[in-house]
Amino acid sequence: MIPVKGYAAQSPETDLAPWDFERREVGPHDVQFDIQYCGVCHSDLHQIKNDWFPGIFPMVPGHEIVGKVVAVGDHVKKFKVGDLAGTGCLVDSCRVCENCKQDLEQYCLNGASQTYNGLEQDHKTPTYGGYSNSIVVHEDFVLHVSEKLDLAAVAPLLCAGITTYSPLRHWKVGKGHKLAVLGLGGLGHMGVKFGVAFGAEVTVLSTSPKKEEDAKKLGAHKFVVTKDPEQVAAVAGYFDFILDTVSAEHDYNMYLGMLKTDGTHICVGAPATPSAISAFSLIPGRKSLVGSMIGGIAETQEMLDFCAEHDIVSDIELIDIKDITPSYERMEKGDVRYRFVIDMATL
Ligand code: NAP
Ligand code: ZN
Ligand code: ZN
Repeated sequence: MIPVKGYAAQSPETDLAPWDFERREVGPHDVQFDIQYCGVCHSDLHQIKNDWFPGIFPMVPGHEIVGKVVAVGDHVKKFKVGDLAGTGCLVDSCRVCENCKQDLEQYCLNGASQTYNGLEQDHKTPTYGGYSNSIVVHEDFVLHVSEKLDLAAVAPLLCAGITTYSPLRHWKVGKGHKLAVLGLGGLGHMGVKFGVAFGAEVTVLSTSPKKEEDAKKLGAHKFVVTKDPEQVAAVAGYFDFILDTVSAEHDYNMYLGMLKTDGTHICVGAPATPSAISAFSLIPGRKSLVGSMIGGIAETQEMLDFCAEHDIVSDIELIDIKDITPSYERMEKGDVRYRFVIDMATL
């Protein structure tokens, strides 16, 4: 076994703290890479707090992982020692189900292996994430990362990037569309960048008036403060798509009212509590309320290549791992510009 240093929550009630653990030896198809940076996703906070379901503890969060390959198994073809590498929210899947066969490993019908707070494909061994100094992953779930981009700012692409890229591609959002990005945080700011890159008119819907200048710098064409009823009324029936990245309870009915006939509200934000939705928010105007989860491995590579080609990275605040708890507190208040990334050299 390979000894690894990390940060873990021992229970939903405890703060993250240093924790030593072990990873498997590098198998014939495995890649081991030393982690240089790991992004901090709101899902990390949801999961250590048991917001969604009872978690597996100790929990080492982190699924926006980038670093340098230090070992490869005998049969590995895609990577060599010294290459840059990345891993997102998945480390394995069954590979044989209908969804896996269509490059939709995130929807694996036999249960994909999440990078942390999940189980390997033996359905027994817990997985531990990227708040750690090294990781061993099957080569099929390791992504190539461009040498051209700032590596720390690439890390959030592995979750925030693909989670916004994938639905915008799936619903073919682009030129001629009016896209609203709801919530300007880690996912939201990537949604703005991709929406603009795909040619849509992008409006940020935010509870934070002070983010307006940033939204415009990110490329957004318009900004609506959702606490201001006049501004909300002005965009009634306006959008083709809403990309909803909100992490906390909110009124979907209000936002559905901003859609045109045949408009689509795409949920990627995953609040802990269910919401009441009136059928009458959907019926007049034949509106759709849909969801999307991260993206498959091939699409994640496509997104990373698109970002390298178009010079797209995340806007980040690099943090010391010792500051993870205050950083979570700031994230909970919507005060991140726009993704915390842990410098793993501080571990
Ligand atoms: P984040 O950086 O904390 O951003 C969330 C943003 O939502 C905040 O910055 C804030 O933006 C807005 N917000 C927060 N509370 C709100 C409220 N009560 N009402 C309205 N707006 C509110 O979080 P993130 O990392 O982007 O993640 C966002 C959500 O997506 C989380 O629930 C996360 O678990 C989920 N997620 C889902 C997937 C997936 O595959 N579907 C993948 C990754 C993450 P403003 O200040 O602009 O209002
Ligand atoms: Zn995430
Ligand atoms: Zn599968």
